[in-house]
Amino acid sequence: MRKGAKDMSEQREPDKIIRAGGREFRLYLEYDDLVEHDVLLYPDFEEHPEHTDEGRPFRTAADKGCPQYKPEAPGQPHSGDCGCCGWFYREEPLAIIGVCMCDALRREQKEEEK
Ligand code: SF4
Repeated sequence: MRKGAKDMSEQREPDKIIRAGGREFRLYLEYDDLVEHDVLLYPDFEEHPEHTDEGRPFRTAADKGCPQYKPEAPGQPHSGDCGCCGWFYREEPLAIIGVCMCDALRREQKEEEK
């Protein structure tokens, strides 16, 4: 449980905006007891998956990688996260939110909505 969290019910300007996959993610700083300072809260796509209109999964660079991981160069070991994967597409350099462009992980939107 985070202590000192700012009241998110109040309308306030986001501390950061990241655009990815046709979406705009509005991010807010919140105090984190563990590191004892404010940190940006990112969506938890591993716990609550979200997809683009084309059915591609949103991921953060820190999300755990999967077996479809594509190394930046042949033979490189799996980094363990999505951030170094060749399928991870960010619209802005070093943006932490991006889209996984691997076709194997793309879902058929209509099937999922049934
Ligand atoms: S970006 Fe996609 S393919 Fe790459 S490790 Fe993450 S989930 Fe897997």
